[in-house]
Amino acid sequence: MPVEINYKKCIGCQKCYKICPMDVFAMDEEMNMPVVEHGYECWHCGVCWMECPKRAIDLTLPCSMW
Ligand code: SF4
Ligand code: SF4
Repeated sequence: MPVEINYKKCIGCQKCYKICPMDVFAMDEEMNMPVVEHGYECWHCGVCWMECPKRAIDLTLPCSMW
């Protein structure tokens, strides 16, 4: 999975959910937390990682991007 949420750090602010241009995240109604729903749609733009106030997003870039 290219993007993962660290729930030990996440505060559920929904910034990642709202800002992702590819709708990778969905909201889990019970947890009231975002979940990675369509990880395969992630194009590694890094916006969620940059905007997360708690650095709770782990983003794995493909080797070809380094
Ligand atoms: S932006 Fe970060 S803290 Fe906010 S919901 Fe997403 S993962 Fe959690
Ligand atoms: S890196 Fe970009 S495309 Fe991937 S989940 Fe984050 S905001 Fe969405």
